[in-house]
Amino acid sequence: MEARAAARRVPTSPMVALAALERNPVAFEVIDDAGHHSISAERGKYGKVWLTCQCPTSWSDGWCRHRVNLLCFRYDSLVDGNARARRAFEQIVLGTTLHAAAKDADHALKAFDTCLAAFDSRRPGRIVGRDLARFSDATADLAAVASELVDALEKLRRLLERT
Ligand SMILES: [Zn+2]
Repeated sequence: MEARAAARRVPTSPMVALAALERNPVAFEVIDDAGHHSISAERGKYGKVWLTCQCPTSWSDGWCRHRVNLLCFRYDSLVDGNARARRAFEQIVLGTTLHAAAKDADHALKAFDTCLAAFDSRRPGRIVGRDLARFSDATADLAAVASELVDALEKLRRLLERT
């Protein structure tokens, strides 16, 4: 598990040099049930990426699914992202620590959702009975993926802080 997690952190593409970026910064608008939100991405020196989103979740939690989706190059919720802007965005983030952390967080979110769904569907009706050991195993699995999610989101949050 540890080796797989380490392998995921290796950037899959080299970072495009700051001076070679087509556009920097790049701004997008995303839409969801709560309305429109502005997102902006900018690369600084030493691979630092500032990625901000003006949605309420961003302000309260320090991260949001809009930014994770963009960092995983999923553009379904974009209002105005033409191919050129998307390519410029990918140049800004590819190969950076933030990109790797977002992919780790995305993986941890999916693992947690899958485990939670399994927990909900397999939870015995009478917990303190014959199936108590199975329930205990399921809670241990859920605790493990929740802990990995906490770590992944904490790392992502630190990288998203505007410092
Ligand atoms: Zn957002």
